[in-house]
Amino acid sequence: MKPANDKWGFRAEGSEQINLDKADSSLYRRLLNREPGFAACLFCGSCRATCTSGNEGMNFRLAHLLLQRGETARLKSLTDPCLLCGKCTLVCPRNVNIRAVVYNLKIMLHEPF
Ligand code: SF4
Ligand code: SF4
Repeated sequence: MKPANDKWGFRAEGSEQINLDKADSSLYRRLLNREPGFAACLFCGSCRATCTSGNEGMNFRLAHLLLQRGETARLKSLTDPCLLCGKCTLVCPRNVNIRAVVYNLKIMLHEPF
């Protein structure tokens, strides 16, 4: 017999709500120190839509979100495919130097914390 919360063919998962005031955003703040213009990102997704390595899993918008939330475990796999081609930087409406942000993030992910 199916569990009670599965009888409708779906189940309610636990909340993924996090308290941003308590999230460890130290890596995000270090990155902002190196590239302050990064703070202007409005999560529009244009960089993701035009990314040369999008099919390989590069996702700058998601990486930014995870950085803010202090969830760093997936950052390396999300940014490793980046070729540093700079195409995303050409379409960013907020003139974020995405290539420089990713370049610095790649370096920081390989530095000891
Ligand atoms: S294109 Fe610019 S503003 Fe839009 S999500 Fe990417 S970095 Fe942020
Ligand atoms: S610099 Fe990286 S994130 Fe930007 S378009 Fe090129 S591969 Fe994608």
